[in-house]
Amino acid sequence: MLYIGSHLSSSKGFVSIAKDALDIGANTFQFFTRNPQGFKAKDIDPSDVQKFLKITQNNHFQKFVAHAPYTLNPCSDKPETREFAELVFQDDLKRMEYVPYNYYNFHPGSHVGQGIETGIEMIAKLLNRILTPEQSTIVLLETMSGKGSEVGSEFKELSTIIDKTYLKDKIGVCMDTCHVYSSGYDIVHNLDGVLEEFDRTIGLEKLKAVHLNDSKTEFASKKDRHEKIGHGSIGLDAIIRFINHPKLKHLPFILETPNDLKGWADEIRILKENFND
Ligand code: FE
Ligand code: FE
Ligand code: ZN
Repeated sequence: MLYIGSHLSSSKGFVSIAKDALDIGANTFQFFTRNPQGFKAKDIDPSDVQKFLKITQNNHFQKFVAHAPYTLNPCSDKPETREFAELVFQDDLKRMEYVPYNYYNFHPGSHVGQGIETGIEMIAKLLNRILTPEQSTIVLLETMSGKGSEVGSEFKELSTIIDKTYLKDKIGVCMDTCHVYSSGYDIVHNLDGVLEEFDRTIGLEKLKAVHLNDSKTEFASKKDRHEKIGHGSIGLDAIIRFINHPKLKHLPFILETPNDLKGWADEIRILKENFND
């Protein structure tokens, strides 16, 4: 069974997300926990959550991914930005317990010139302040493209963050296909080699979810420009090999391609047609 979905709007609450997911043939999804550029989060409506949990159980949904806002930067050079990151992170993890046992994905951060080691240190410190043994949510570090001063474009950087985190069982990784390809991991010509390197540095058991995107820019461009599936430099064949890889095929795949619901429905149909159970 292929676990696939897309990034959906959360502005109308959880039931609306689940309905959109069903409409496009998805059995997982991603949403922003709050305005991606800002702070404000909607209040949780317990009856909305109860209906949502029923829909997802009845339709055998796989775990979903909540995405932190882009403005969350644990390794900013500004103390107030780091405090904001901590407040948002903590509040999001508290809210995630209304919908337990899912994933919370975040961009590790941008060190803004302070250096990669300092960035890694600050990210691990934040994780060590907010992760608790009681939480059911697994927090995912996203693999980044390496634009600007992004931390997490190399597997080694992510493994160092995990090494420095005390509650390692609360931490995983979400691999973004556009980002890793832009960062210089050749998933088109050497997927086995990339997965071996991931396994050596991080451990494949830490890989919990995939952002399935094509890329508008060429290999190792260090850019972050998502493209529709099959329309970019990665291409449909490589993406089909990716979802069918024996070490990956059990994972939830989330499309973050530039599409509307109809476009995602088409992509999901094509990927299901090309998935070998
Ligand atoms: Fe992301
Ligand atoms: Fe992504
Ligand atoms: Zn991206």
